[in-house]
Parts: sequence; structure tokens; C-alpha cells
Amino acid sequence: MAIQTMDKSCPICCKDVAEPTFMRFGEWVCSEAHAEEYVSEVRGQKLRTVVSEPRRDDRPSGRGCCG
Ligand SMILES: [Zn+2]
Repeated sequence: MAIQTMDKSCPICCKDVAEPTFMRFGEWVCSEAHAEEYVSEVRGQKLRTVVSEPRRDDRPSGRGCCG
């Protein structure tokens, strides 16, 4: 039987994460600094996949500006 070890390591510095203090997108990170770094990395990857799709949401707001 496989023993499931809680093998968590920071995706930024590959250090073992002893305490589940920071979790981002299902990954354990060692510190808040690395958490933010990881988040921005993931966001960048997501942005790249989103960019390939055409956007239809942003229409210009047609408000008049007469005051
Ligand atoms: Zn780290």
C-alpha cells in the first residue's frame, strides 16, 4: 500500500513546506513572498491562454459627457 506522504514543496524555491501556511492554486508555498510570486506566474500563464480567445465583453460605454 502506498503511504501518502504530505510531500509539499515550494514551486518557487523547491524547499520543503513544513507548515501549510500558504496555499495558492493547490500548491504549497514557503512564504508569502513566494506565494505572490507563484500567483503572478500562474496568472501570467492563464492570461496567455485567455488572450488567444477573442474578447467580446469590453464594449465602450456610451455615456454622454455633456455637463
Ligand atoms: Zn519558496
